[in-house]
Amino acid sequence: MRSSIKLGTISGIEIGLHYSWFIIAALIAFSLGEHFRQVNPNWSTIEVWTAALLTAVLFFVTLLLHELSHSLVAQARGLKVRAITLFALGGVSQIERDAPDAKTEFWVAIAGPIASLVIGFGCLALAAAFGWKPSVEPRSAAAAVLVWLGYINVGLAVFNMIPGFPLDGGRVLRSITWAITKDADRSTRIAARIGQVVAFLFIFDGIWQFFGGAGFNGLWMAFIGWFLMDAARASYAQVEVAAAFRALPVSEVMSRDCVVVNRGMSLQEFVDDNLLRTGQRCFAVEDAGRLVGLITPRDVGTIPRELWGQTTVREAMRPLDSLHIVTPDTQVLDALKLMASNDVNQLPVVANGTLQGILSRSQVMQLLQARSELQLPAAHHPPLDRMKQKGVTV
Ligand SMILES: [Zn+2]
Repeated sequence: MRSSIKLGTISGIEIGLHYSWFIIAALIAFSLGEHFRQVNPNWSTIEVWTAALLTAVLFFVTLLLHELSHSLVAQARGLKVRAITLFALGGVSQIERDAPDAKTEFWVAIAGPIASLVIGFGCLALAAAFGWKPSVEPRSAAAAVLVWLGYINVGLAVFNMIPGFPLDGGRVLRSITWAITKDADRSTRIAARIGQVVAFLFIFDGIWQFFGGAGFNGLWMAFIGWFLMDAARASYAQVEVAAAFRALPVSEVMSRDCVVVNRGMSLQEFVDDNLLRTGQRCFAVEDAGRLVGLITPRDVGTIPRELWGQTTVREAMRPLDSLHIVTPDTQVLDALKLMASNDVNQLPVVANGTLQGILSRSQVMQLLQARSELQLPAAHHPPLDRMKQKGVTV
């Protein structure tokens, strides 16, 4: 969610608008304008388009209120919320970490649908005050706007309560199974599996409708199903990775046979003697036994080839103070998050200023694959002392 426009902050939460939102807003305004013109032939053109645009903007405000209620409840329960971004398919709140307990998860998740439901019925009640009666097409522009907002918000609340993870209803379901089973990972797996079933039903129903002649509506259903399927699968994979690496320190996974190179060496020598011979991706640069930086093929590639003879490793390396480092006790999961948020593939593992090893993303992924090929339970940890007896650790 990077390319978005900042709108301001509410309660310390940055509000952003992703560019994809404009496409959906234009679609809503356009189709509503067409609808208003057809059912109210007595409205002027200005009236039609003002009502349509106003509805699209107010729809955005109600979506924001839905997201804000998630975020404000999260804040009230001690979670930090960084930002809310609205995009084509709704909104996302960036909450710094997952809910620590089932109760928090429940209230944060249900706050959004409750807000949408209250807004929805509020709009319908206001429309009734403007003289609108259910099952009759609203006469005035104000009532038409309110009726549309009312129905869409009630619809939003109902759709979000579908019990498929990662929809709000899926989170509510997860919090309830969490409270019953007392097992956060297991409840995520259950909610994600139900999410996949729900998504499959959407796709099936969409295709069924499409061939039954519903055309675009059927395809739209199938598209939502496909989106939900993808999101449920991602949450399932995430919990597998998290379970595998929970309580696993970096020291058990990092490679210790890290090649150390001299900082005064020329790049040409480094490429010929180390890079091309060992096939390693990452080299530690030391000065008098202390780590001063790292050098990878990517860093060498930034220097023009004809300068390799005159450039030293120290000039091309990334110095230690510009690197993100971890200690041997850092959890693998936290290290992976650090790599992802800084877009790096390796992290030096440092204790007391000396290099203990290198953790690379590909290594962690290979380990995960080995576990799944052996069909080991995700949380299986090899007994450390046995590894030590065989001299695996150095
Ligand atoms: Zn929500």
